[in-house]
Amino acid sequence: MNQEGEAKVGTLYVVATPIGNREDMTFRAVRVLKEADAIAAEDTRHTGQLLKHFEIQTPQISCHQHNEARRIPELLEKLQQGQTIALVSDAGTPGISDPGVPLISACIEAGISVVPVPGACAAIAALVASGLSLARFSFEGFLPVKGKERRASLEQLAQDSRTVVLYEAPHRLVTTLTDLAGTVGEMRSVAIARELTKRYEAIWRGSLADAVTQWSQPDEYGLTLKGEFVLVLEGAIAAEKPELSDAQLLRELQALIDQGVSKSRASRQLAQTHRLSKRQVYELSLQLG
Ligand code: SAM
Repeated sequence: MNQEGEAKVGTLYVVATPIGNREDMTFRAVRVLKEADAIAAEDTRHTGQLLKHFEIQTPQISCHQHNEARRIPELLEKLQQGQTIALVSDAGTPGISDPGVPLISACIEAGISVVPVPGACAAIAALVASGLSLARFSFEGFLPVKGKERRASLEQLAQDSRTVVLYEAPHRLVTTLTDLAGTVGEMRSVAIARELTKRYEAIWRGSLADAVTQWSQPDEYGLTLKGEFVLVLEGAIAAEKPELSDAQLLRELQALIDQGVSKSRASRQLAQTHRLSKRQVYELSLQLG
């Protein structure tokens, strides 16, 4: 009870945790998790390791996709009694392609304050390193896996003028890149962020056409189809470029070759400058003597 005799209501903290590198844990996240009465976690075993590392002894309550609906009344009761609950997911920001939204909505509806504790989010990390426009962007999460819904989402993306962020599972990466190339156009630029903040972090940038070729074969670590991936896709209007004729491209290739640059190097350079497929430019260069 407070001085006015009203029951003190608790707070739900929505706490972001690292997406791979524990150094990305914030001081505030550690303090909030330590001070909370309970931590609502997507996977208590997984979060248990993080808590152990930061010497946090707060008890956990499991709260995941399959039991969230059942857990909500129990968590609301604790909050209404004045307890503080911290919501975490396995990695990154809860609610972003992760459980948490129904609990957050239920708290708001019940007049319980919801306080964000910002931190890592794979979508934002990939966006800021993509090199693509950050003026306006949209978050798609995981595309529907198949059927009408997938086609409809892909067609919508073809029209979207904003930079688009997608999450994808490693075994679906090449299929999704191929489907994107087929719908939004193979010359659209894409940044593929793999294993952000972790040992094998890599950010690949190029056209969708080159992405399909590149990611269909193993890379230097032989890890092409392993790891966690974010795709950042250039927006539709930004992707529109003035048509460059083959004749103009051949002239530019010849000028470089005349300077002593090899055909493959000249093709690579021009493909990058004009954001074209390397294969396409190289094939054109074979017409030159
Ligand atoms: N809530 C998380 C966040 O804030 O980013 C996202 C959770 S979602 C279930 C997991 C997906 O996020 C992965 O399949 C991958 O697409 C992306 N992801 C998470 N961590 C990543 C990382 N370190 N590098 C690249 N992508 C990552």
